[in-house]
Amino acid sequence: MRAAVLHGVGKIQLEERPRPEPGPREVLVRVASVGTCGSDVHYYEHGRIGDFVVDSPLVLGHEPSGTVVVTGPGVSRHRVGQRVSVEPGVPDFTCRQCRAGRYNLCPRMRFFGTPPIDGAFCEYVVTHEEFAYPVPDTLSDDAAALIEPLSVGVWACRKARVEPGTRVLVTGAGPVGLLCMQTALAFGATDVLITDVNPVRLGVARDLGASETLDVRETPLSDAGFEPDVLLECSGHPAAIGEAVRAVGRAGRVVLIGMGGDEIPLPLSHVQTRELEVTGTFRYAGTWPAAIALAAAGRVQLDALVTGHYGLADVEQALTAGARDPKLVKAVVRPQE
Ligand SMILES: [Zn+2]
Repeated sequence: MRAAVLHGVGKIQLEERPRPEPGPREVLVRVASVGTCGSDVHYYEHGRIGDFVVDSPLVLGHEPSGTVVVTGPGVSRHRVGQRVSVEPGVPDFTCRQCRAGRYNLCPRMRFFGTPPIDGAFCEYVVTHEEFAYPVPDTLSDDAAALIEPLSVGVWACRKARVEPGTRVLVTGAGPVGLLCMQTALAFGATDVLITDVNPVRLGVARDLGASETLDVRETPLSDAGFEPDVLLECSGHPAAIGEAVRAVGRAGRVVLIGMGGDEIPLPLSHVQTRELEVTGTFRYAGTWPAAIALAAAGRVQLDALVTGHYGLADVEQALTAGARDPKLVKAVVRPQE
């Protein structure tokens, strides 16, 4: 099969690799669509994210959809021909975190496109049958791939305890911010304000149902007169994070989703006097069924985020498109094209 392989910073080569074979309880999926993510771009540009270092050739891509084409021994949940959305991380199922239901925190997690595990910018992937979720035919291949970033939004809204009537501030209108915004609305949030510095993305946010959008280059958040119950921080910008935390009302919840600097200033007196809860999020656990249901019911729009398609030979183009085009929201790789 063909695979787009990262060989160090800024260097991806198209290569022939053996097609993987599914082991016990595994399925082989012919990949249809793979979303590109900021973390793919970061590995491509910097060769590392925190402690995860690319020190040998690596296939990026962790947002795949496709079709089951071979089932391994003991597979009971799938048949050949089933369209699926692939949850890209398989934990060990046995450690303390897994046993507590927090498998996203499993220290032995094997996660696509994260060193040393190869990802999905290739024609076929193998995964455990429990992590390939059937999708209805009403969901496109792209939408089935974007169940992964939607899951980030579902997990964040669960951590933030978003419920009917919750006022939500989303900072950053990139793909994850737009999905957090849509998920918050689907969870019953009534006032959802989303901020960015990119007017194109704020326009997309309005099209997707934002209650209010704010270009923080023109109007500082502190002038917006908005006191949210929940902050879903998707910008990763240290300055924006501090300002957004200061906007959160009493007993509010702050969920940090965007990857920012390793250390950022936090207005601690505000956190203390208002009894804010501040938490990080790391990926997700148990979100695929809800995310698929929200997308299938039309409560969340996924295809609307896709602004470009790329073949396997053009993965570098897909990963660098954002830097060239401010109108880009989500680039999708189609390995069969
Ligand atoms: Zn575990």
